[in-house]
Amino acid sequence: MAVDLPTRARAVIVGGGVIGCSVAYHLTKMGWSDIVLLERKQLTSGTTWHAAGLVGQLRQSINMTQLARYTAGLYRGLEAEPAKRPAIANAAPYHSPPHPAAWRN
Ligand SMILES: Cc1cc2nc3c(=O)[nH]c(=O)nc-3n(C[C@H](O)[C@H](O)[C@H](O)COP(=O)(O)OP(=O)(O)OC[C@H]3O[C@@H](n4cnc5c(N)ncnc54)[C@H](O)[C@@H]3O)c2cc1C
Repeated sequence: MAVDLPTRARAVIVGGGVIGCSVAYHLTKMGWSDIVLLERKQLTSGTTWHAAGLVGQLRQSINMTQLARYTAGLYRGLEAEPAKRPAIANAAPYHSPPHPAAWRN
């Protein structure tokens, strides 16, 4: 399908999975408006389509744990935005003990 694309943009994001959409969302939140997101097939049709939708809060590093905490808060906040109402369910998952090599985190 031929699509008319702008010849210039402030930001061009390649890939419309959760990461590309998140980058576009956050740039927009920062006030950017001249953004092009290129997706070769269909939004979220890649690995994102397969995801179970879990946002595990305990990750293998402090940075990833903080990112997961931010994400959970972001999704809860999206519930307040009428146009974007994700279905969120809080669950208490079981985590097996981490490998000893990860304890220092
Ligand atoms: C079975 C399964 C279950 C999972 N469950 C979870 C879960 O519960 N929780 C969790 O946090 N993570 C889960 N994951 C991991 C999660 O799905 C991925 O980490 C995440 O979706 C990756 O997102 P992405 O945007 O990087 O990649 P993708 O979703 O793959 O997006 C990349 C996009 O780029 C497009 N693209 C590629 N090349 C080009 C190009 N040249 N031009 C234009 N577009 C292009 C593709 O078509 C695709 O849409 C799961 C993964 C799998 C496989």
